[in-house]
Amino acid sequence: MAKQSVYFFGGGKADGKSSMKNELGGKGANLAEMASLGIPVPAGFTIDTDSCTAYYKNGGKLSKSLVDEMYRNLTKVEKVMGKKFGDPKNPLLVSVRSGARQSMPGMMETVLNVGLTSKTLPGLVAKSGDERFAYDAYRRLITMYSDVVMEKAAGIEPADGEGIRGKLEEAMEAMKEARGVTGDTDLTAADLKELCEQYKKLVKDTLGTAFPDDAKKQLEGGVKAVFASWNGKRAIVYRNIEGIPHEWGTAVNVQSMVFGNLGETSATGVAFTRNPATGEDKFYGEWLINAQGEDVVAGTRTPSPLNKATKLPGQEKVLSLEEAMPKTYKQLVGIRNKLEKHYKDMQDIEFTIEDGALWMLQTRTGKRTGAAALRMAVEMVDEKLIKQDVALMRVAPEQLDELLHPMLDANAEKTADAIAKGLPAGPGGGVGHAVFTSETAQEYAKSGKPAILVRNETSPEDVHGMHAAEAILTAKGGMTSHAALVARGWGKCCIVGCGELKINAAKKEFSVGGKTYKEGDYLSLNGTTGVLYAGQIPVLPAQPDKNKWYKKLMSWADKTRQLMIRTNAETPEDAAQAVAFGAEGIGLARTEHMFFGPDRIIHVREMILANSEEDRRAAVAKLLPFQKADFLGIFKAMADKPVTVRLLDPPLHEFVGSLLDDEKELSNLAKHCGVTAADIRARIEALHEFNPMLGHRGCRLGIAYPEITEMQARAIFEAAAELTKKKTKVFPEVMIPLVGHPNEFRNQEAIVRRVADEVQKDKKVTFKYMVGTMIEIPRAALVADKIAEGAEFFSFGTNDLTQMGFGFSRDDIGGFLPQYLKQEILPVDPFQQIDQDGIGQLIEIGVTKGRSTRPDLKVGICGEHGGESNSIGFCHRTGLNYVSCSPFRVPLARLAAAQAALKWPRKEAKAAKKTVARKKRKKK
Ligand code: ADP
Ligand code: MG
Ligand code: MG
Repeated sequence: MAKQSVYFFGGGKADGKSSMKNELGGKGANLAEMASLGIPVPAGFTIDTDSCTAYYKNGGKLSKSLVDEMYRNLTKVEKVMGKKFGDPKNPLLVSVRSGARQSMPGMMETVLNVGLTSKTLPGLVAKSGDERFAYDAYRRLITMYSDVVMEKAAGIEPADGEGIRGKLEEAMEAMKEARGVTGDTDLTAADLKELCEQYKKLVKDTLGTAFPDDAKKQLEGGVKAVFASWNGKRAIVYRNIEGIPHEWGTAVNVQSMVFGNLGETSATGVAFTRNPATGEDKFYGEWLINAQGEDVVAGTRTPSPLNKATKLPGQEKVLSLEEAMPKTYKQLVGIRNKLEKHYKDMQDIEFTIEDGALWMLQTRTGKRTGAAALRMAVEMVDEKLIKQDVALMRVAPEQLDELLHPMLDANAEKTADAIAKGLPAGPGGGVGHAVFTSETAQEYAKSGKPAILVRNETSPEDVHGMHAAEAILTAKGGMTSHAALVARGWGKCCIVGCGELKINAAKKEFSVGGKTYKEGDYLSLNGTTGVLYAGQIPVLPAQPDKNKWYKKLMSWADKTRQLMIRTNAETPEDAAQAVAFGAEGIGLARTEHMFFGPDRIIHVREMILANSEEDRRAAVAKLLPFQKADFLGIFKAMADKPVTVRLLDPPLHEFVGSLLDDEKELSNLAKHCGVTAADIRARIEALHEFNPMLGHRGCRLGIAYPEITEMQARAIFEAAAELTKKKTKVFPEVMIPLVGHPNEFRNQEAIVRRVADEVQKDKKVTFKYMVGTMIEIPRAALVADKIAEGAEFFSFGTNDLTQMGFGFSRDDIGGFLPQYLKQEILPVDPFQQIDQDGIGQLIEIGVTKGRSTRPDLKVGICGEHGGESNSIGFCHRTGLNYVSCSPFRVPLARLAAAQAALKWPRKEAKAAKKTVARKKRKKK
């Protein structure tokens, strides 16, 4: 038998199930699952994603066997629903819906009311007893069908404002004006009948072909159009942003229509089984009486809250579904509970009530903010719905970023100029310049200016602008509108349904409260409360530790992970911030940053410009107290924890180059050193290098000027001695940078160890310390066994390692990387995510060889990659002991490390667990 391509669902049975998302798409798989669970779902069938691929291979045609299989299933649907497709007396109408493996909200097409023709219309009128309703359905069909099937799918790209949908909408506006009414619902049956005739004529005149008056033709056209919408422009843009493969294809769902617009006993709505913005365990949704589903999603009418518990201040008088249709609401709550129990996760559902009967049209795992993801995951463990390990996997490490992200300064908010209030669709603070088109939002973003995208409502065509914008503000739409959904998915600040705004996009302005705001004006949004402010409100960093769900989840993460998490920090303030975020040590303290202070730079320059060793020693000696004070501060902030200090790394020219353009500083320095300005100029020019990144830097400096290494080592160890005497535990780890040959390491190691001995003897105190190296030159990885004979630890400097491994200058990559990504020569920027195939091998070799001569070699990473979740997974698998990242990425790293440990459990020593246990014991 040929492979099955069409899967039936309805009447309590289904061919498919929720695990078949690859074949049936998310929507189809879950419709099948709901049907099997006995939840009322209008009967229908799903055409699988392979058929989409086949359709493209077939040059845009449906194969005969597929068409036959479709009609065999349609017969089953007719039986369950007791209606017949194309029947003049009792016609079945269907929707033709798209549905990919991964949800792409609003990016592809859906056509409703398929099967309405001049032959079947009278049947619908008779059955519904409502002529107005029937013609309203007909005009919606003509609109959607001509737009989606006859124009978009046919590849017609009309000029702005020339599209068929716009023309039909204009005709409707003209009709309303002629009748002297304002609402769509004010048009009578006779009006709509006449309008449908106008529509058909307009379609013929504009597109050259007539709107098909044949049910089967409509169905087949609809199916093809959904396949074609997979390769629609906005679907492609969305897939690029979300990283969804283009070869997946979409499934098509053909489903019996149910009508939410049959009068006051009918309704439609969208809901989340829990609040998607906060995670609170409250059934949360929106509904519209006497409306079709698309009215809620499109954001054209602002819907009402589902129940009393979720009404916002000011909505007391708005009728909730709970109050308007208590029985149906109760049934819906029952389904909500059933779905959560079954899927064990928050669901995003669509429902329609046709004349009192409740029908479910969709369920899927709901998108949520980071804060909501956290709260739900933790509370579901408390409810025994899921296990801790599952909860840990539920929160994407990147989502934690939101919690650490800025909020508007609450104090400044009190006195700020609040100009309007909307619905809080995406929490956090957003401050930027008002812009009115997606294009402008992108331009602003490109030039580094934050933009607030201000729209009446967003449509899927706006995705690129929404992505570029700092925050999103809309006048219409509810919490489940397109803008809200997309913004939450990206963790963006967003306010929707801000009805007081009168937006004039053409004039690039909006007015509210008698004032007008123009493009470029500053706006501040509080996405947590929905309040909009004029002007620029300061933003404050968030305090995740005030969030109890965060604390709980992170404590589970710390128990689970096998990697230690350190931070890159060189000031006591940064170090303290990182410790507050959970850092267990410093993986990289760069000493050169300490050299730039206004009170020190002069001595640094004196040191660099010195002509003799004696002069240089004198200058270096002046730096010693400063460096020692720096280390005292850091070691104190990191008491009990290891601190890796990297010796001086950058080329000397960096400290003096700017002098050439600064006459005043130059003569100052000349006086200070007792030489002429010309002498200094000559010396600076002598330091100039063609390729400083590969020049006289790193350990090459310390080898040429051992007194620098000596001074730094002395500063580190004297600080260590002083604190040890005061009973503060310190674990300095001295890191030699840019080693490529074992002899380089040996040379510097000898100096460091000698100074350590001297200081311990002088100060009559002993302390633990280590000497190790950065592995950042490819050669170092290859001779790691020799280096590890002396080095007690390695830290992979993956920025330089990537730079030298690829031969890409990190500072010049902007010239070609965009092309590389666009042409898919590289899948991602290798400076953001470790290139596991190439650079990753150097790391693996380094670890294996290093541990071959020193089995207990401590290995970490201190490049930017240490704060990126994929790279953290790689570090875990490669057997590193720790990753080190910037303070604000520490929480992300803790969670990513836990997820890695769950995905790829390691047998050997659980470094992290040990320390956590040690800490706990101490607390008791
Ligand atoms: P999307 O993926 O963009 O949400 P859908 O396929 O869910 O598209 O359909 C768009 C709208 O049409 C939704 O509001 C949905 O509830 C409604 N709809 C789809 N099929 C039917 C149907 N058979 N009966 C009633 N409404 C439907
Ligand atoms: Mg939908
Ligand atoms: Mg480096």
